[in-house]
Amino acid sequence: MKVRLLEIDDTPTQFEFQITRDQLQNLDQRFRFDPLECQAYLARNLEFIELKGHYRVKVKSECDFCLEPLFLELDEEFTLDLVSEGNQPELNGDVELSMDSPEMDYYSGEEIQLIKYFEDQLILDLPLNISCSDDCKGLCSTCGTNLNQKRCDCHEKTDNNPFSILKDLKPDSKP
Ligand SMILES: [Zn+2]
Ligand SMILES: [Zn+2]
Repeated sequence: MKVRLLEIDDTPTQFEFQITRDQLQNLDQRFRFDPLECQAYLARNLEFIELKGHYRVKVKSECDFCLEPLFLELDEEFTLDLVSEGNQPELNGDVELSMDSPEMDYYSGEEIQLIKYFEDQLILDLPLNISCSDDCKGLCSTCGTNLNQKRCDCHEKTDNNPFSILKDLKPDSKP
């Protein structure tokens, strides 16, 4: 999804489009999804182009611990100030960046390639650790049994299971 600079003026213009999985090259392969439903509003400002983005997607992945498939539903908004790559503001002491100012990013040439910004944002919005539940017991490191579904006896014999540490930290909720 490309927008030519000529199409952007100072009143926000809305663009709606979809992004398919194969258009995203940087996103980790373990994330699959049906097309991302995207909306972008682009408006020209004095020195930059303001992008307000919104996307919705249901990402299919799996639990980091037990490897069961699961879905992550995202419905996210973001704002970016896009600065022409040939026209970067000098970063010196005069530039004041407040915590409220939106993130900055760059574009080059006469077109805005929207997919790139949505991909970056999606990667940011996805959690680093994915687990099916707060108390997922994971897989037995010895026999591979999904410990959420049944018990195995390897656990008593060895203390090498990394999840045994996690379990010890959590008070047992059963009376
Ligand atoms: Zn799990
Ligand atoms: Zn086992």
